[in-house]
Parts: sequence; C-alpha cells; structure tokens
Amino acid sequence: MPQLVSVAPTVRQLRRHLDAWRRDGHRIALVPTMGALHAGHVSLVTAARRRGCKVVASIFVNPTQFGPNEDLSKYPRTFLADRRMLAEAGCGLVFAPGPAEVYPDGFSTTVTAGGPAKAGLEDRFRPFHFDGVATVVAKLFAMVRPDIAIFGEKDYQQLQVVTRMAADLDLAVKVIGAPTVREADGLAMSSRNRYLSADERAKATALPQMLRAAIAAMRTGQPPAEAVAEATAGLTEAGFIVDYVEVRAADTLAPVTSLAERPARILVAARVGATRLIDNMPV
Ligand code: AMP
Repeated sequence: MPQLVSVAPTVRQLRRHLDAWRRDGHRIALVPTMGALHAGHVSLVTAARRRGCKVVASIFVNPTQFGPNEDLSKYPRTFLADRRMLAEAGCGLVFAPGPAEVYPDGFSTTVTAGGPAKAGLEDRFRPFHFDGVATVVAKLFAMVRPDIAIFGEKDYQQLQVVTRMAADLDLAVKVIGAPTVREADGLAMSSRNRYLSADERAKATALPQMLRAAIAAMRTGQPPAEAVAEATAGLTEAGFIVDYVEVRAADTLAPVTSLAERPARILVAARVGATRLIDNMPV
C-alpha cells in the first residue's frame, strides 16, 4: 500500500506540525493547489525538495476565485489519490482546510491586486479572479509562514500577481516559478484536461503547436502582432474559440510591439467545447 501523507484540516493543527519542523531547523516550502493533482503539481513538490525544504502542500478549492458561471461546484476532487501522489513525491504534510476555516463568519478583509492582475489577460474574462487568488494566497502565507512558495508558470499571470503582491506587502516569502509540465504531445497538464472529450483532447494539441509556431515565426523576424493573428486563425480553424493570444513583457505583462524591448512571453486562453484552457511559453 502506498503511504498517505498526513493531513491538517485546521490552522491550529497545521501550526503544530510546522512548529515541530521549525524546531528541528527545517526550511519550509509551501505548494498551494486546488487538488486533482497531476505530474505538474508533483514537479512543484520536487522543486521544493531540491531546495532542501520540508514541503507542505495546500489543497483548497478557493470559492472566491471562481466567477458565478465557472466550474466551482464541479471542480474535480480526488483527495485520496492526491494524498498518495504527495506522499510519493516526498511532501511532508497536506493542509486541507474547509471553506469555514479559511472564511469564517464575519470575514471582511480582502487583497485588491493591481499591476499584472490588470494586464488585460485573464482579468478580462475573470474580473474578480486575481483578487480571490491574492487574498487566499496572502492568507496561506500568513497561516504557513513558509520560507519559499512554489507556483507553476502554467498560470503565468497568477505567478506574476503573487510575486508582485509578496513584494508590495513585504511578505517574508520567496516566490519561485517552476516550468510547465506537459503531456507527450505538448498539451500543458491541467486538472481541467479531464473535462475534455476524446475529440476535444485531440484538438487541444493545437494549443502548444500554435504557440511554438508563433515563437518560431517571431524569432525569424515576424512582428508579434502578425504572429498573434496567425496563431488566432490557426486555433479557430482547429475548433477553438479564442479568448486571447498576446505577446507581453515577461515580468510586468505590459504589451510589447517588438521583441527587442525585453524578455517576452506569449500567452493564450481558448475554449474547446465547454472547457477553457490556458497556456504560455517564453518567446
Ligand atoms: P491548481 O491546482 O490548478 O490551482 O494549480 C496549483 C499549482 O500548480 C499552481 O501554481 C499551478 O500553476 C501549478 N500547475 C498547474 N499545472 C501545472 C503544470 N502543468 N506544470 C507546472 N505547474 C502546474
């Protein structure tokens, strides 16, 4: 039988475990997740372990980052499998609070995220999403008080929002980004991929393909605007409804018109059937 990692469902129990780790001189890494774990999440635990840290993963499907028409109630929940996967990855503890532990009666203070949170990417389609993310991540940082926190580049705008928030609020945690883990055909791993039908899954390969093609074209001199137009057309032809394809400055997410300006990132969000997928790559 594979082991299951221990679970702290309350902040009190979490602190009891973490105090013992600190007394033993360990550095602590936090890996925040919403569960339904896959190899992408495991890679974040591995990255934390490689830095010599004890790892606590949080599993919390945060209601405040979902919009009214999003998939909160049907978000996949696979808690036992998650615990097994985390134990195998060397994660030392799971913090899995219920909504009332995080948002007790009377809860009334939130974080409003600006800068990269208002870049006109995810925020155009999910207007309250990053305030929900920033608030829950600020709370997780306060609950865990980790030395480092690892986030996936898969959610690239989120990584920039959290990095900015930690700097702006002087939070004593180092935010570290980890590269996107992909399926063999290039599709970025995501808990939401399990919503895809076989036909949609086959179409979804177009997402990384179009990003790679756009990057190759830009590297040979095609202006970003043209590469974006071609990627959008290619995705539409492949059966996607495109929310955006954008080339942005890798740190601030400000628009760029030429690649000479600074390191850039290409970001995409597109829907196939009822499922919305996002991806991004360095240009
Ligand atoms: P989620 O459970 O979707 O909220 O994701 C939790 C963390 O895992 C976030 O920091 C994500 O960016 C990261 N993550 C999700 N998918 C991947 C992936 N394919 N590769 C690397 N990190 C990922």
